[in-house]
Amino acid sequence: MKVRIDTSACSGHARCAAAAPRLFRLDEDGYALPVDGDVPEELQQAAYDGESACPERAITVE
Ligand code: SF4
Repeated sequence: MKVRIDTSACSGHARCAAAAPRLFRLDEDGYALPVDGDVPEELQQAAYDGESACPERAITVE
């Protein structure tokens, strides 16, 4: 599983990091940083939680 973040759609709501802080991190302006590599099995639910939490639909789980 991979997580793709559309940085052009991200508006810095920080809801992804609030919903799944172990997976989603923010830059100093509050925008989501890329999630590199494969998501470990123990964080896969966190990936879906972040995807659901983003009001801009900027997060895609693939
Ligand atoms: S919830 Fe969506 S819009 Fe907000 S910081 Fe995360 S990816 Fe960006």
